[in-house]
Amino acid sequence: MDHFLYRDGQLHAEDVALADIAAAVGTPFYCYSSATLTRHYHLFTEALSPLPHLVCFAVKSLSNLAVLRLLGSLGAGMDVVSGGEYRRARAAGVPGERIVFSGVGKTREEMRLALTGGIRQFNVESEPELRALSAVATSLGLTAPITIRVNPDVDARTHAKIATGKKENKFGIPIARAPEVYAEAARLPGVDVVGIDVHIGSQLTELEPFEQAYLKVADLTRALRAEGHDIRRLDLGGGLGIPYARSNSAPPLPLDYGALIKRTVGDLGCEIEIEPGRLISGNAGVLVSRVIYVKNGEDRDFLILDAAMNDLVRPSMYDAHHDIVPVTEPVPAGPVQPYDVVGPVCETGDTFAKARDLPMLAEGDLVAFRSAGAYGAVMASEYNSRPLVPEILVNKDHFAVIRRRPTFDEMLERDSIPEWL
Ligand SMILES: *Cc1c(COP(=O)(O)O)cnc(C)c1O
Repeated sequence: MDHFLYRDGQLHAEDVALADIAAAVGTPFYCYSSATLTRHYHLFTEALSPLPHLVCFAVKSLSNLAVLRLLGSLGAGMDVVSGGEYRRARAAGVPGERIVFSGVGKTREEMRLALTGGIRQFNVESEPELRALSAVATSLGLTAPITIRVNPDVDARTHAKIATGKKENKFGIPIARAPEVYAEAARLPGVDVVGIDVHIGSQLTELEPFEQAYLKVADLTRALRAEGHDIRRLDLGGGLGIPYARSNSAPPLPLDYGALIKRTVGDLGCEIEIEPGRLISGNAGVLVSRVIYVKNGEDRDFLILDAAMNDLVRPSMYDAHHDIVPVTEPVPAGPVQPYDVVGPVCETGDTFAKARDLPMLAEGDLVAFRSAGAYGAVMASEYNSRPLVPEILVNKDHFAVIRRRPTFDEMLERDSIPEWL
């Protein structure tokens, strides 16, 4: 459920008409709903209660400071994958004790940043990283709390670019080698083993792969404890999928996911961490765009929008589907016609949808891409020298610009021409 609904013939974000925001800030823009973000976060905390737990929002899915402040103020932790995301989480007011640091390529610089700034744990993904972290922590006279990310060799049955839990993926250490790596971690100075981490992929639409992975983690917990490791925390990753097309069958609910966690690892007495991104932010955001032209091609009609692949790359990068809806409510059961929905960027890949049935649209009309909150704005670029798309946060009947559109002067100022030219 989200808070983007038609009211009086106009698509609203909570109590604000998207057309009013478009009039104020121009198009395209991302718009997020505070109520939806809040609701989705609470679905997870409710699903995991009464287990001791921390829901760590995957910052990479939507990293705007205002969104992090909102979720952080509700009690959320953060899952960061770079020094930049760590800085964002801290700047949003999230204490280090609620931040977990994931990622296969943490630099020594990033380790120092998090160690001195405060960190809940590092999710270590390789032996070289483990040794580097031990050296960095020791040189600072500090101890790094760690989990080791294990790769359970489970097929997440999702898009190949976002599957992470198969042995051919770059993530984690093979679960069979875990005892060896934990033994080394226990011997190293400057690191304190606190638990196990696993994350098998993103946009999972079935619970079964999670079940396989978590059962393996439960077995590993018992095996490592038998060898004397104090496994007290399990980080079970993110990845729960969302419905991108209203017409499709819905992926599992957080409540069912929570029940699965309780069933598989709930009796181990561990504190549970999860790292959902998409399920919290995805359906909490839309991308609003205006039709520049309707171009009648030889065998199809093109809807040319002022949003493009640089603003929302998921369709061209992952063949992703986004529902596209007119901001002015169409007449129920009115006529539809197929459009190829495209942006202005000079690449054929700049296509959002092919032969998509939509109500008749005209130049100047507004459309909204649904489910665009996650991996939308964060993946935007200035390709074709198009300004980064601004972000808006709605709360009930008011909205705020939480990232403004840069001016062209600002964009040009970042370049410099050497004096010898
Ligand atoms: C991307 C990622 C997540 C979040 O995945 P979602 O599908 O957005 O829930 C969580 N943990 C790690 C380690 C990730 O890389």
